[in-house]
Amino acid sequence: MYQYAGVLQINLSAIRSNWRLLRDRFQGQFCGAVIKANAYGLGFAPVAQALYSEGCRHFFVATFDEGVQVKRLLPSPARIYVLQGCKRGTEKYFVERGLIPVLSSLPMVERWLSLAADDVKRCVIKVNSGMNRLGLAPAELQRVLCDERLPSAGLQMLMSHMACADEPQNPLNQEQLRRFTQMADSCAQVVPAVQLSLANSATVFLPAAFHFDVARPGIALYGSGNGLLSPVVSLYLPVLQVRDLSAGETVGYGATFRAPQDMRIAIVSGGYADGILRSLSNITHGWYHAKLPLLGRVSMDSCVFDVSALSQSQLPQEGELIELLGEHRSIDEVAAEAGTVSYELLTHLGHRLERRYCE
Ligand SMILES: *Cc1c(COP(=O)(O)O)cnc(C)c1O
Repeated sequence: MYQYAGVLQINLSAIRSNWRLLRDRFQGQFCGAVIKANAYGLGFAPVAQALYSEGCRHFFVATFDEGVQVKRLLPSPARIYVLQGCKRGTEKYFVERGLIPVLSSLPMVERWLSLAADDVKRCVIKVNSGMNRLGLAPAELQRVLCDERLPSAGLQMLMSHMACADEPQNPLNQEQLRRFTQMADSCAQVVPAVQLSLANSATVFLPAAFHFDVARPGIALYGSGNGLLSPVVSLYLPVLQVRDLSAGETVGYGATFRAPQDMRIAIVSGGYADGILRSLSNITHGWYHAKLPLLGRVSMDSCVFDVSALSQSQLPQEGELIELLGEHRSIDEVAAEAGTVSYELLTHLGHRLERRYCE
């Protein structure tokens, strides 16, 4: 008997092959991987280990805690970068654990520079090239480059982040490239071995001028954003009950669906607490032999599908699985139906789903 709310099937071979595709496309030296937020909801351990075994050595997470978790999972050649950098007072823990902070404000850099010169350490400096989220301004970078403590800071990489790489024609792309190139040139004059990193997933699909040395793809590894990538994720929800619905009756909270004729419906396990976004109510469809419209509002733990199109012999039995994401339903399509992006869809997939890994 099933104990889970639903089954999230994660194809690790597809993640590996997406990483190889990105690596081959990327014109720089090293293709890394962004595995923040539990590898976009898919699970740190299996994803990090699959990528490591393909040859990935640069792993990016968001927080210190994520870095600690990933550090335990991977052999020491893996470099683990913490995108949020080090919060005040945590510098020594980064040094102790060999985690690499992405320093993204002048005070954060100052604190790092004031660590003991003989500590063995590595860091990244992030600069703002137009995203206006995190990162040093050009003048702030200049100040740091003149600091006499810089040679012992272990500066490995200069990083910036693209705002519109998924829109190849957006003029901000060229502007960010121009600003980053300028800052990169100044930095390389002072630290010749510094590696440069600009590319998220979408940037790997832009011309080579945007690539630099180290790529940081996330979402593309998980099968979203480009038709060349292999799908990774399937979501199956078990049927709890099949019932008849008479013409004129309604389904779910708010009675937002009313049956135009006699119908047959399947109630399935899995609701918004499991990441089936409520904005999919009355919009999306599942798949079981045929397209099954989702009726009414998504509840916390369940939702309802129209199975009227199925013959008596096709009707799902209790426990049988209806596909919500997978072969018939891509994460990009379903995210668009929900009025959001695949990133949000993936990172909301809940803890009650059983994650099954296949090769
Ligand atoms: C999340 C993130 C990425 C990965 O972006 P994708 O669009 O998923 O490839 C890269 N760099 C930084 C700084 C990020 O925060």
